[in-house]
Amino acid sequence: MKIILLGPPGAGKGTIAEKLKQEYNIPQISTGDLFRAAIANQTELGKKVKSILDAGELVPDELTIALVQERLSAPDTSNGYILDGFPRTIPQAEALERFDTLDMVIDFRVRDGIIIERLAGRRVCSSCGKVYHIKNMPPQKDGVCDTCGGALYTRTDDNPDSIQQRLKTYREKTEPLIAFYSERKLLKALDGEGSVEVVWERFKKLLGN
Ligand code: AMP
Repeated sequence: MKIILLGPPGAGKGTIAEKLKQEYNIPQISTGDLFRAAIANQTELGKKVKSILDAGELVPDELTIALVQERLSAPDTSNGYILDGFPRTIPQAEALERFDTLDMVIDFRVRDGIIIERLAGRRVCSSCGKVYHIKNMPPQKDGVCDTCGGALYTRTDDNPDSIQQRLKTYREKTEPLIAFYSERKLLKALDGEGSVEVVWERFKKLLGN
């Protein structure tokens, strides 16, 4: 299964991708995670993209496409993959179309007010990457990951200014992909509001399970 999770930041793509990965045993490829790892490791790529991520803008297409193309050539993608956060522009979608054939694109629909509330309360484990929310999905112990005991942190782009910029960028650059994939008969709309369990049940129905 080759599947794209499309939708604004905070729509729940990463959370659903995590569950999907466990259920189907296929890799989750998150461009945001790849960029954050490059920044943490202070690689050349990381140095180039840090200020772009902090500002909530998009990394240039050539860099992003090259990164994904390389990742998709790894052997663990032979049974499929979940793309989370890629493509985010029409040129990225066109590039992907040139090097692979997809099965499905899920369009997560969540209203802005809910997105802002989700992103402002999001906390991420610095060790295993697990995502929490201070109100909706709190860890058992404040600031500590339930799974691995790592320290939880707030992403530097989960601040009010970056959140507004990311939503604006989504509207301008990424939303046109809805029409792009709808024309190709690959798009399925998912109501992404509600608890993780409720959204996951809806998601499985869309997949036909
Ligand atoms: P995410 O973790 O998906 O919210 O992505 C975090 C940030 O990484 C975005 O705000 C962008 O700055 C950058 N990024 C992630 N994916 C892409 C992409 N496909 N194209 C360009 N920039 C991206």
